Amino acid sequence: MDSDLTTILGFFSFSTGACIASFLNVVIWRVPRGESIVSPPSHCPKCGAAVRWWQNIPIVSWLALRGRCAGCREPISPRYILVETLGGSLFLAAFLRMGAVEGSYVVRVVTLAVWWIWIALMIVGSFIDFDHKLLPDFTTVGGMVLGVAYWAFVSVSFNNFAFDFANLDMYLPLAFSLTGLATGFGLLWLVRWLGSKAFGREAMGLGDVFLMGAVGALFGPVAVFVTLMLSSVFGSVAGVSMMALSKTRFARNVEIPYGPYICLGCLVWMFAGPELVDAYLKILLK
Ligand SMILES: [Zn+2]
Repeated sequence: MDSDLTTILGFFSFSTGACIASFLNVVIWRVPRGESIVSPPSHCPKCGAAVRWWQNIPIVSWLALRGRCAGCREPISPRYILVETLGGSLFLAAFLRMGAVEGSYVVRVVTLAVWWIWIALMIVGSFIDFDHKLLPDFTTVGGMVLGVAYWAFVSVSFNNFAFDFANLDMYLPLAFSLTGLATGFGLLWLVRWLGSKAFGREAMGLGDVFLMGAVGALFGPVAVFVTLMLSSVFGSVAGVSMMALSKTRFARNVEIPYGPYICLGCLVWMFAGPELVDAYLKILLK
């Protein structure tokens, strides 16, 4: 692809991500509270002033208003601009990553769409998990359905959509996804069971088990192991720092959501995973 086109499509990707993330902010706030995501339109929770369209431009508006309501100057949480920037950056990164994906043009476009949907689902799931210690089904079950559907599509697209259903090679992508789903689900189910035996209480939510099933369905069994390793490191670092920072010492029962760290591990896999595994194997087999 020539560099001008890459720049234009890159800018489009970032803007799309930022706009979608702007909507995800609404979902993160309203869905766990059982509120409608369409009505009432966005308004300031303090003075009730409606957010005009020009005050609703992702990232730009927050900066222009210096993070305050235009009516009453009430501070607007920096989380809004954080989520918008995160959405934009990850959509752009996913677009740039498509160069590493094998397959036809159609497969790449569908792959990018699937990555964008999954990134959006992970953003919503992670922030809802931070706030409410629960993972929404549309992230976990939705991710599993998305993964299986995507690999079924790759199966069907095999040999340029020559529908030769007797060719067993065709089913490999679907088998890859189902194996990944079973690995992710099974492995975390085991961790959850062992954890509850060891601590005598529920050590991990069922949502985390489903979330790892989704990682497996989308990226396969190897991704599950790498994501599990990374997420336990990220989760431990975050847990230890939270305990160190919190004023109440010995707060051992403090509940740490695991979902966001699974998502972080999955992102590392998406953008650097196969390269990391290759580098690791090279060192190992030297
Ligand atoms: Zn206001």
